Amino acid sequence: MKKILLAEDDPFVVEIYSRKIKEAGFDLEIVQTGEEALRKIKEERFDILLLDMVLPGLSGWEVLEAIRKEKEKNEQLRTLKVLVLSNLGSRPEVERAVRMGAERYLIKAHYTPAQVVEEVKRLDR
Ligand SMILES: [Mg+2]
Repeated sequence: MKKILLAEDDPFVVEIYSRKIKEAGFDLEIVQTGEEALRKIKEERFDILLLDMVLPGLSGWEVLEAIRKEKEKNEQLRTLKVLVLSNLGSRPEVERAVRMGAERYLIKAHYTPAQVVEEVKRLDR
């Protein structure tokens, strides 16, 4: 079973996404801060990180940067795919995130939770 880590601080967003992700048959863990996300992905192997950009403490940007810096020496980080889920999404932000290693950048307002799950499945292939 594919393992997904959802890093999201909004309880309402967590609730709707986690239900959909579990229904789709993925193994899901949830963290609420950037620090926890970073700790988790270094401790265990996840297939996909669903990363909110505005998080308490370390931001999603800082998490992306840390992954980029550490992936040379960390196999788990090398195989991890990052899918950004954000309310922010100007073209420069999207381009910056992709340059920093994100596979996809989904703007929350443009995707339903079901569509986000479809994107996760697509990454999974
Ligand atoms: Mg947030």
